[in-house]
Amino acid sequence: MKIPRALNDLIESFQKLPGIGPKTAQRLSYYLLHVPESELENFAQHLTNLKKNTVLCSVCENVSESDPCPICLDPHREKEIILVVEQPLDVLAIERTGKFKGVYHVLHGAISPLDNIGPDEIFIDQLLGRVGKNGVTKLSEIIIATNPTMEGDATAMYLSKKLKAANDKIQVTRLGMGIPTGADLEYADETTLTQAIEGRRVM
Ligand SMILES: [Zn+2]
Repeated sequence: MKIPRALNDLIESFQKLPGIGPKTAQRLSYYLLHVPESELENFAQHLTNLKKNTVLCSVCENVSESDPCPICLDPHREKEIILVVEQPLDVLAIERTGKFKGVYHVLHGAISPLDNIGPDEIFIDQLLGRVGKNGVTKLSEIIIATNPTMEGDATAMYLSKKLKAANDKIQVTRLGMGIPTGADLEYADETTLTQAIEGRRVM
């Protein structure tokens, strides 16, 4: 049976989203047929606005409405400590703990040879740019909080080497144990994350 082109296009779009297979994509698309047109227009508008009304902060690369982002602009945040995460959602998870008073750097991914993601595909150069040359920096510590996965660990090792080469005055640490291996930071609860920050170890 041939399904209408408009439905088919929508199904294909849904299937591009993570965790959505063909069955779910079909179900969502047919479901939307029952939603009032005005609501659908709203939905479409939100999709259009997503990229149009957000920017990446030119300091930390986090998603923001303004550049620099509110965290980088906040005079109460300790600019000499940078916590490095894979994704913007990880920033939200750490912020929920209320325990971290430094600033962030978002890599937007992790090194993954299997997926053809090398150091140049994520925001590593931008981080090295913030570190500066030996001695000429106000930074005291970089906390690497990539996920405890194979990719996250590989990225942490790579970063540690590069950061130390760029500036040996800065202490490089990695989040402590507590987060289960293979898990994503964004799913860790606040207690676990707080313990992981407090139990960070020197790399
Ligand atoms: Zn920022």
